[in-house]
Amino acid sequence: MATPKLEWDTTMYRLAVAQLDKTAALIELDDNIWERLRTPQRALVVSFPFRRDNYVEVDTVFGYRVQHLLTMGPTKGGIRYDVGVDLGETTALAMWMTWKCAIMGLPFGGAKGGVRIDPRGFSEQELQRITRRYTSEIIDMIGPDRDIPAPDLGTNEQTMSWIMDTYSQQKGHAVPGVVTGKPIEIGGSLGRREATGRGVVTCVVESCRQLGLAIDGARVAVQGYGQVGGTAAKLAGELGARVVAVSDLHGGIHDPGGLDLGKVEAWHREHGSFRDYPGVDHVTNGELLELPCEILIPAAIQNQITHENADRIRCRILAEGANGPTTLEADEILWKKGVHVVPDILANAGGVTVSYFEWVQDAQQFFWTEEEVNGRLIQIMQRAYQDIAGLAGSRGIDLRTAAMMRGVRRVAEAKRRRGVFP
Ligand code: GLU
Repeated sequence: MATPKLEWDTTMYRLAVAQLDKTAALIELDDNIWERLRTPQRALVVSFPFRRDNYVEVDTVFGYRVQHLLTMGPTKGGIRYDVGVDLGETTALAMWMTWKCAIMGLPFGGAKGGVRIDPRGFSEQELQRITRRYTSEIIDMIGPDRDIPAPDLGTNEQTMSWIMDTYSQQKGHAVPGVVTGKPIEIGGSLGRREATGRGVVTCVVESCRQLGLAIDGARVAVQGYGQVGGTAAKLAGELGARVVAVSDLHGGIHDPGGLDLGKVEAWHREHGSFRDYPGVDHVTNGELLELPCEILIPAAIQNQITHENADRIRCRILAEGANGPTTLEADEILWKKGVHVVPDILANAGGVTVSYFEWVQDAQQFFWTEEEVNGRLIQIMQRAYQDIAGLAGSRGIDLRTAAMMRGVRRVAEAKRRRGVFP
């Protein structure tokens, strides 16, 4: 299909579209629907000022909110604060949210938002002012029955609280359902914080079962020690796996005998990095990916496994905690090497699944126990994994292609049923 010049055309957007195009050809997707799915339905770019803490300086920053697909219900997706945020990245991430929600059977289309800042460069008060002003800039786009933001890279429960408060101030009453990933005190869900990591580990367990690999004693390397990577390492350890490496953005640590996760956690909390951690090998984030292990979990940022290093990846299972960590070329190399790649749109879909639970609980004002949340999450993840693995097996294709086929087909069928207005 010929591509006109698009404002959001960047490397990451091209990756998302290439994945869609590959799928569309395989399922003989209707040309009109195919074209609709390649571009976002709505995209907002804003620039806005905020006061620095000295109250004299005013900085201007860029913000984005993209809604890829409005067919399935409200749109859903996180907000990231990162220097790499642009319209192309936000659009690609919104597209992945669409497939993620469709695969899991959630009544949402995909969205994503972000502000192009390095959040580490600002005080808590500055971040609060940025968040409140960003919220007011995108306020017409969001709402519990329109578009529901959540945390992503560089944002957290506190960010969601400020968004919820700003939105509620405008409406004149509390609207907890406008965001998910909130603190429990204002309508958050038990289990949401760990949900993405728990979903990743559920996929790892299912993969081990499928491949006949014992999780007990399996070596696990995790890139990224945030909410996703940190939880995945902890839960894998609890299942008896040997976590041999972890890292944060400054670098990582490696111990082939297995790390003491309690000690690692306490150290990182106290020092904020793994620098000077005693008695282990220190590795870069690139080196971590190439360590010998059974299970590799990239849970940091996109574009980590490319044609340059894919051949040196030595794991058996690669479960994508991050969004877009593997390029299309790398996918092919890994497939030929026999690496079992559990794609982001399946592996990290636990986050948005429990976001859905949170949204349902807010609407009903009836809250679930942590056991109920975790039990339902694991059940939905297992069902999605087995469905996609079954399709991949029967067609002789990789899990990403099978997951895309499921997601795109569900969305296409809904679009066909609704027809074209007017
Ligand atoms: N930002 C997360 C993701 O990429 C969660 C989105 C959500 O919970 O809406 O899946």
